[in-house]
Amino acid sequence: MAAPGLRPGLGRLFEMPAALGRVRRAYSTSQAFAEVLRLPKKQLTKLVFPLQELERHLVPDSKREFHLKIFDPSLEDIARAESIFTATAQNRIEYLSSAERLDHAPALPRPEVCFIGRSNVGKSSLIKALFSLAPDVEVRVSKKPGHTKKMNFFKVGKYFTLVDMPGYGYRAPEDFVDMVETYLKERKNLMRTFLLVDSVVGIQKTDNIAVEMCEEFALPYVMVLTKIDKSSKGHLLKQVLQIQKFVDTKTQGCFPQLFPVSAVTYSGIHLLRCFIADITGNLKTHGFQFS
Ligand code: GDP
Repeated sequence: MAAPGLRPGLGRLFEMPAALGRVRRAYSTSQAFAEVLRLPKKQLTKLVFPLQELERHLVPDSKREFHLKIFDPSLEDIARAESIFTATAQNRIEYLSSAERLDHAPALPRPEVCFIGRSNVGKSSLIKALFSLAPDVEVRVSKKPGHTKKMNFFKVGKYFTLVDMPGYGYRAPEDFVDMVETYLKERKNLMRTFLLVDSVVGIQKTDNIAVEMCEEFALPYVMVLTKIDKSSKGHLLKQVLQIQKFVDTKTQGCFPQLFPVSAVTYSGIHLLRCFIADITGNLKTHGFQFS
């Protein structure tokens, strides 16, 4: 029987080493994730399903407000996604090119996801964390004032392209909005936009500009809450509830489930990798249906 509070799939995986063996053989689970699977259940939940861990601290009335199960992959699904993010000779993960304008962007047939957020939100750190299984990938950071900021394209094997968009807000170049707007509006293979919000300070004025842009272009987007290791649990819960309320009441195109992450503790990183693998059509999870 599964331990109380654990989803059935999770419990099964822990109780049946044979099942885990199947996962390893079928999907060659990365060594790092095999170590994650050996963690005590509470630590594993905190690392892999941070929202679920936070939910335990809510009073029953507030629990309804958390959307935990919309994207609800099994650990087998997460293990499969890990292999997509693991660089090997057959699965090349690499920086491709940079572009200042959409017409300079590489013409790529693969599905694409992009990451946007205001400067200092933790975007480079998050992308580095997502690519930690491909240590040769260099995530370029151009923060010097006056330097033209570019869109950076990364190829993830035969699966998808990840685009790191320039940070907006303070010191953003004048043509920034034009560049980002054009990309968001016109990039044909863009599957999903990941909008980063700093969980310590919540949604800021500049974040609202990005939200409005996504809404105006009717883009499907997802809110990722960064730096969750920095706050106390109480503060984080308050922020998460506020942001969830904002998503529920003020947005149309935003995915209703939030993705809290930490680039320091890696909390939420595995789940986010799995979501990216899924929405780019590379993983048919059991827990998520395309709408
Ligand atoms: P960017 O401007 O959006 O690319 O932000 P960076 O990734 O450079 O991060 C800005 C600052 O926040 C840096 O000092 C990072 O070390 C810090 N930072 C980024 N992510 C995290 C995180 O998850 N936890 C903590 N504690 N600090 C973070």
